[in-house]
Amino acid sequence: MRYQGRIYRPPSEADAYILQATIGCSWNKCTYCDMYRDKQFAVRPLADTLADVAAAGVEYGASVHKVFVADGDALVLDLAHWRAILAACRTAFPSLRRVSCYAMASNVLAKSADELRELRQLGLDLLYIGPESGDDVTLKKIAKGSTAADHVAAAQAAHTAGMKLSVIFLLGAGGIERSEAHARASAELATAMDPRFLSALTLTVVPGTPIARAEAKGLFTLPDIPTTLRELRTFVAHAAPTDAIFRTNHASNRLVLGGRLPRDRATILQAIDGALDGSVPLRPEWQRGL
Ligand code: SF4
Repeated sequence: MRYQGRIYRPPSEADAYILQATIGCSWNKCTYCDMYRDKQFAVRPLADTLADVAAAGVEYGASVHKVFVADGDALVLDLAHWRAILAACRTAFPSLRRVSCYAMASNVLAKSADELRELRQLGLDLLYIGPESGDDVTLKKIAKGSTAADHVAAAQAAHTAGMKLSVIFLLGAGGIERSEAHARASAELATAMDPRFLSALTLTVVPGTPIARAEAKGLFTLPDIPTTLRELRTFVAHAAPTDAIFRTNHASNRLVLGGRLPRDRATILQAIDGALDGSVPLRPEWQRGL
């Protein structure tokens, strides 16, 4: 398979075939993100993408159950690309159960209800959306490009089309100043977006990013470990989706949790309280990743 640059995928797509259909992220402005800074956004030539699907079909065929379409916000692709890619995947991978991709709220809102429904019918059934925060002050500071209300509208459009959502929040994104507001508003947004899958990651300030420059100027302060755990606690205590699988299994997190929200809220809060009082060990810093 041919890949350009570093490739990222959610932890739950570790067993998926990753198909690179775009290069980089069409937005590429979030202040904390360095994933695609080395890439100029481009749509890969469709013939190249389809050739990769065909080659993967020959090599892996029926062993592929999941396809993750990369890079950063592959939902930005137009319908002509998606139709061809999804048809090729169905042909190449006869056991295919799910196709997913990263999406920004703006990618979802740029598509009509009919287009989203067609994508779902053709096999695109899971969107990973990372609002990171439900706090509009934080969203503006991190240059997410969309508000909490935009994310709610995007989630409603995806639900109407029959797509599942995996929604990601970023502990620490509001800095020390917005810590509590960020956690509470993120819980509210998680409730309103009502995803099937919900996760929290922890912000790492990566050298060279705008947020690192803000930190160097004293304009941003990353919350310390107890404050980050309290953010997580507030988030878990207040998030009330219908029935979401909640995970903090990303490498960036110090405390790995799993369960369903709201069903397992009390157990998850107990684990967070254990981490706060030192009785539950945290992942050592050297084991953390981005
Ligand atoms: S939308 Fe995602 S990939 Fe693009 S800059 Fe923001 S965090 Fe990075």
